[in-house]
Order: sequence, then structure tokens, then C-alpha cells
Amino acid sequence: MNISLNITPMSDWMPNKELPLLIAGPCSAESEEQVLKAAHLIERDHRAMIFRAGLWKPRTRPNNFEGVGKEGLDWLARVKRETRLLTTTEVAKGEHVGQAIDAGVDILWIGARTTVNPFSVQEIADALRGHDIPVLVKNPINPDLQLWIGAIERINQAGITKIGAIHRGFTPLSQSIYRNDPTWKIPVELKRLIPELPIICDPSHIGGSRELIEPIGQKAFDLQMEGLMIETHPDPDNALSDARQQVTPDRLSAILDTIVWRHPEAPNKNFATTLEQLRGEIDEIDEQMINLLAQRMGLVEKIAEDKKRNNVTILQVSRYEQLLNDRIKKGERQSLNPEFVKAIFEQVHQNSIRRQEVIMNAV
Ligand code: PEP
Ligand code: MN
Repeated sequence: MNISLNITPMSDWMPNKELPLLIAGPCSAESEEQVLKAAHLIERDHRAMIFRAGLWKPRTRPNNFEGVGKEGLDWLARVKRETRLLTTTEVAKGEHVGQAIDAGVDILWIGARTTVNPFSVQEIADALRGHDIPVLVKNPINPDLQLWIGAIERINQAGITKIGAIHRGFTPLSQSIYRNDPTWKIPVELKRLIPELPIICDPSHIGGSRELIEPIGQKAFDLQMEGLMIETHPDPDNALSDARQQVTPDRLSAILDTIVWRHPEAPNKNFATTLEQLRGEIDEIDEQMINLLAQRMGLVEKIAEDKKRNNVTILQVSRYEQLLNDRIKKGERQSLNPEFVKAIFEQVHQNSIRRQEVIMNAV
């Protein structure tokens, strides 16, 4: 897949390069008083850099609170005047972009329900053309990495280079402890494909409950994500949207005290040398493993030829059973998780069968 993006590093536009990018604020702007109160309380924690508040709220069902709309833009402008925080809000239509930029909002984000629709994303991209403002793109609600990348490309092609992704999880298909399943392999794959793209995690929308914010946030940092967006409200229980997942500013600080921010690299030279050495050893072992698998497959091929000559079935269940038990036991003696060993040998065995089938059915 050919992805070519022109991305300005986040360190060029974020307020403090030493810290992860931390966005905090209520799910929705509800009143001028609530917005200002939230911002002044959040500002007390030096780690908070950006104040979020949704003005145009995409709600799943009608007749819920749908946001205060452009009236709230003045409240965000007051937050900027009265605190050190930058501001951000969600844009879902072209007209939101112009209104937010005119009101001095510093950063825009595109919501999960908008990212799913290329027409909407394109409308936003067209409205962004000619502006220089950072834009964060949330993942689509469905686990479709291409759709997420496509939205990022549309915004980038409109000339926005200060760009980042927000991982907020995916609608679960079956019962889940999460409001939105994190499916970490998707943001990890995004990072692999576009390493220069910053990814920020939104543990509030993934977890859907206060208790899950800390462990999800930790996992995000363990996976090298660059920041967090945490919904923070002065009175979460009475919030007009997403009440269960919002935390007070005090609880936000407590969560941030607990989460350990890990760096992809360490300034400590000894650490870097040891890491390199250990990785070198791992690379060697992996190579040996590949060689051994190839050798093993060579033996499997010989067996297949023999079975073919003697007209014997490919699968001998008793042998497979015995092999699996033996490997699991040996693994356990070396403190390897039995599930792990079983999964590996199931794969090895399946592939041996497939190879034998090819050989035995060849004419
Ligand atoms: C939000 O950030 O409040 C929001 C609506 O998020 P999402 O688009 O991730 O559902
Ligand atoms: Mn919300």
C-alpha cells in the first residue's frame, strides 16, 4: 500500500515537547459556567495542555442533548483568554470548520461517526483548505483501518500537515467490558504503516466507564502512543452526555499520577546498548527458529513421500495428540505458558498437514 503523507512533527506544534499531549475537558460544553469552571480546575494540573469541549454533538439516538452549537464558541474563546490552555472541539460539517477557526479554536478533531463517511470528511477537508490548524482524526466506529487512513489522507491532501490520529475504539460486535473495543492491533498497524503520524488515545470513549480510563491509558503509553484525551467534567454524575465515563479534575490528576509514561527511547546510554544487544540476540534466535522450521518441513516432506508410497492417511490423530501433549509438557518445564506452546504447535501441525496434502495429491 502506498501512503504518502506530509506530516509536521507534533513536537513543532504541541505546547510542551517534554510531556505527552494531554487533552482534557467535558464531553459537551453545557453552559458558560460549566465550561469555565472545568477549564480553571483542569488548568491547575500542569500536565493538561489542551481543553476539549464538544459543541456539535453527534448522538446515536435523536431527542438527546445535541450540544449548544456555535453559541459555545465564545465560551471556548474565554477559556483561551483566562487560562493557559489551548482549545479544541469536534467539527462534523464544513460550516463548523469556518466558525471554529473564526472563533480562534486552536485544534479541531473529527469524530468517529464522521470519519466513516468520506463525503463528510471531504466536505471538512475542503473547508480546511488554506488554513493552518492542527486536525486530529478519530478512528471510524467500525474497525476499518483503510477508512481511517483514507480520512487522514483527505485532510492531509487539503494542505493540513499538523495532523494526528485519535484511537477511541470500535463498536463491539459482542458483549464487551468496553464501550468500544480497543482492538489495539489496528492503531499498532497504523503506527507501523505511518510511523511519523502521532496517535493519541481516548480511553474515555474506549472504556465507557471511569474505572477503565487508567488501565487503558497505561496500555496506550506502553504501545508508544503520544498522548491522551480524557473527558473531564466538574460534576460528572450530572453531565448531559457520557456521564459514566467522565472524571472530575481531581480524579484526572490521580489517574495521571498512576500512569507511567514510557519513552520509545531512553537517554541512558547503558540502557540503549543493552537493548541493542538483547535485540540482536533475539534476531539471531528468530533466524534459528526459521531455519529449524524449514528443516522440520523438510522432514515432513519426506514423510509425505513415504506415506504416499504406502497409501497411509495424512493425519494420524493419536500421533498428533501425543505430540501436542509432549510439547506442552516440555514447555511447562521451561516455564512456557501451555496455551502459548499449544497455539504454536497447532500452527506447525496444520501447516505440515497442508504441505503433505499438496505432496500426496500431486500426480
Ligand atoms: C466525543 O469525543 O465526545 C465523541 C463524540 O467522540 P467519538 O467521536 O469518539 O464518539
Ligand atoms: Mn463523549
